[in-house]
This record gives sequence, structure tokens and C-alpha cells, in this order.
Amino acid sequence: MLEISNLTHVYGSGPGAHHALGGVDLKVAQGELVCIVGPSGCGKSTLLRSIAGLLHPTGGTVTLGGKPVERTPDDLAVVFQDYSRSLFPWMSVGDNVALPLRRKGMDRPRRREAATEALEQVGLAGAEGKYPWQLSGGMQQRVSIARALAYRPALMLMDEPFGSVDAQTREDLEDLTLRVRSHHDMTILLITHDIDESVYVGDRVVVLSKAPATVVGDLRVDLPGP
Ligand code: ADP
Ligand code: ADP
Repeated sequence: MLEISNLTHVYGSGPGAHHALGGVDLKVAQGELVCIVGPSGCGKSTLLRSIAGLLHPTGGTVTLGGKPVERTPDDLAVVFQDYSRSLFPWMSVGDNVALPLRRKGMDRPRRREAATEALEQVGLAGAEGKYPWQLSGGMQQRVSIARALAYRPALMLMDEPFGSVDAQTREDLEDLTLRVRSHHDMTILLITHDIDESVYVGDRVVVLSKAPATVVGDLRVDLPGP
């Protein structure tokens, strides 16, 4: 469903140019949870931002369901590491989750219903009227995940989503991701620098080289149970 071909990106030009992506090729099937790992600064966020259409790559193509990603914004949702910057502090939790649904043309009652349902799925039933700053970091990240879920994207992109929470919260959120993913038939691409996390959460682990990043490893994970 996601196809990345020979993706390159260069920041700047001339002698100071930085080659972040050196020709990334990757295919992700519907329903897969793929973790992308690689050394710090290798270009993981650049790759994710290119897929999300937040950055125009220098070369190559990214297609979702056969269409260029720029033309499929409704099929994508992104969860960033920095939840404190991705939630609007002046808006209630319910409104934060419901807001992007306006772009799908949903009316207000439908948006509220979808927000309530998504918050239930992340273990935050009844938190609609709270404000982000009243919640712990882990809970705020749950709100970000709820917002992405409510949107019902075909592809969810997660950039170091658990990188700013404590170890126990991190485990909780990893398990939450696995649960919501089996509930919705969603494809997930998750960036992490934590190899343990990648094999726990992912069906597949894609390894990037140092910059300019290319795919140097692609392994299928087969954990026993549950
Ligand atoms: P990662 O997510 O793997 O840590 P990034 O994709 O964030 O890596 O960054 C890859 C490289 O590109 C880094 O060396 C970073 O300094 C550089 N970079 C990122 N964004 C910019 C930018 N806007 N301008 C110039 N260089 C950038
Ligand atoms: P307003 O139109 O000023 O937001 P409302 O009476 O419509 O006032 O809602 C009051 C508050 O109730 C909202 O600001 C929001 O914080 C909260 N709320 C309760 N349930 C939901 C929901 N499902 N989605 C969004 N907001 C909700």
C-alpha cells in the first residue's frame, strides 16, 4: 500500500549541503507494522516527513495506494515525539481530538462521538473536558494517538512516539499501539532508535544506514505468543 522508490533528500546546497536520504526503497503491505531504526541523525525523521508530505523530497517517489502522497492527505495521520507541541493547550482534550475531523467534513456531533470513542480506546474515557496541561506526559501522548485514531487513517506514521516518556509508560504505550493496531486494520510505520522496542512492536524492522540513509537491513520479526 505504501511504496517508496529511490527517495533522496538534500538539505541546503553547495558545500554546506547535507545529504540526508541517499535513495531509500521500501514497500509496506496493508496491515503491516514496520519499525524503522538507524543511527541518530541518519535521516529517519526526514524519511517520515517526506512520507507525510510535510517535506518535499529532492528526488524519488512516495505513493500510497498507487497515488502520490501529496494527493492522499486524508489517508495519513502522524504522531510526533513531542506531544507538548502537537496538542493545542487552549483546547480541551475532546476538541484536540475532534479538530482534524472537520477536514473530513464531519459535523460537530459526529466529531464529538468519534473523539469520545478514540479516547476510550486509548484508556482515557471521560477525559474530553480536560486540558492537555492537566494530564501527564504519557496521557498527553495517548491523546495524540487518539487524535490519529479518530481520523481513521489508512497509514499511521509515528516518529519516536514514546521517546519522551518514562520506561513504564513507554511499555504501556507500546502495548496500546499493538492493541489499537489489531483493532483497526491499520498500517503503521514507526520510527525508533530503540532496537528492543522495534523487535517488540514491529512485524518487520527496517534498518537505515548512517546519512545519506539507505535501507541496509530488512528483517521479519516472529515473536512467540501471546
Ligand atoms: P534522524 O531522525 O535519523 O535523527 P533527521 O532526519 O532528523 O535524522 O536528520 C538527518 C540529518 O539531516 C541530520 O544530520 C540533521 O542535522 C539534518 N537536518 C534535518 N533537518 C534539517 C534542516 N531543516 N536543514 C538542514 N539539515 C537538516
Ligand atoms: P463549545 O462549543 O464552546 O466547545 P460545548 O458545550 O459544545 O461548548 O462543549 C463544551 C466542552 O465539552 C467542549 O469544549 C469540550 O471540552 C467538551 N467535550 C465533551 N465531550 C466532547 C467530545 N466528545 N468532543 C469534543 N469535546 C467534548
